[in-house]
Amino acid sequence: MITSKYSIREQNEATILKTIIDKKIISRAELSVVTGLNKASVSSITKTLLEEELVTETGIGDGSTSGGRKPILLEFNGQSALSISFDIGYNYVEALLSYLDGTELETVSQRKISVNTTNVVSLIKEIITQFEQKIPKTKHGIIGVTIAIHGIIHQNKIVFTPYYDLDQMNLYEELTASLTYPIYLENEANLAALGEYTFSSTFDSLVSLSIHSGIGAGIVEDGKLQLGKHGKAGEIGHSILYPHGRQCPCGNHGCLEQYASNKVLYDTFSEAKGLSSVNSKIISEAYHSQDPAAVELINNNCFLLSIGINNIVTLYDPEIVIINSSLYREIPTMIELVKQQIESQFSKDIIIKNSSLKNRATLYGCITINAQHFLNVQKLKLEA
Ligand SMILES: [Zn+2]
Repeated sequence: MITSKYSIREQNEATILKTIIDKKIISRAELSVVTGLNKASVSSITKTLLEEELVTETGIGDGSTSGGRKPILLEFNGQSALSISFDIGYNYVEALLSYLDGTELETVSQRKISVNTTNVVSLIKEIITQFEQKIPKTKHGIIGVTIAIHGIIHQNKIVFTPYYDLDQMNLYEELTASLTYPIYLENEANLAALGEYTFSSTFDSLVSLSIHSGIGAGIVEDGKLQLGKHGKAGEIGHSILYPHGRQCPCGNHGCLEQYASNKVLYDTFSEAKGLSSVNSKIISEAYHSQDPAAVELINNNCFLLSIGINNIVTLYDPEIVIINSSLYREIPTMIELVKQQIESQFSKDIIIKNSSLKNRATLYGCITINAQHFLNVQKLKLEA
């Protein structure tokens, strides 16, 4: 029987692999104890994993616990396969070619473009072709392409994209028709949360808030992304703040993101000051020079976001809330302002911090998705 390298890894093999990844370094004897698989099975599975270069033998362990014979230890090799990540916004594309362990090999960044149904497939394929010309030699090559979409995704279908028209096409079908790699589509904020879980935090449960043109939350509970029945879990930007407030593209009025997104803050400031364009740096400079309009906008933004955070904490009670926003990175005191606003018994003990992965969190989440499928391992912790 011919098995594709993309087919699902056999369960005992995945269990051994996950144990090696979690323990960082482990002997065959310990693997047998931890997994409950007998020594012959462990020996045969690790032989396969060594042949696949997913595991390497490293050093000699302590012989005192194994009857004097010093065991050879095993560790995960995150560089035997390659991952491609895409973050596709309404006006930009970021792409990353990396090893499974997060080591970056090549990046492509296209800014100030307009992404739509007519150009998105060629944008993606051109970048993949660029990457293919530069890939280093590895045992498995490219094992997956994961694409972050700013909108609601349900099982690789783009359901709703308020800021571009990608919900008018079947991107997954168009890409799988012409590419041989496994393709995965997922919501941008969900991927950012998964990236934080796998590559930056020690926590099992977290909420990652992605604040750009909209506001999305990715929720990880016990290592697993919470998607909901229709892929809409964590759409905190569309929680209603003012029942008769501003019209939102989702169809409701008064949604949080119509008041507290970075885009709204930039638009309000540019209108107030008669500026043609505003970004986080311009706001930061104005705020730090005590410009009254900037100070008021920032204070108000932190107040509104604290309401959003309080609401999401009452639902999910995470260990940590990670904020991913260029504005909050430029003005770190905004985190303190948000904390000051949170006085409820629900939220006051929650850790709130800026993302250490910054604008790469989503791309790292794409690596997680590719690695999860290829390794058949969930709950991956792979700090680079
Ligand atoms: Zn809305």
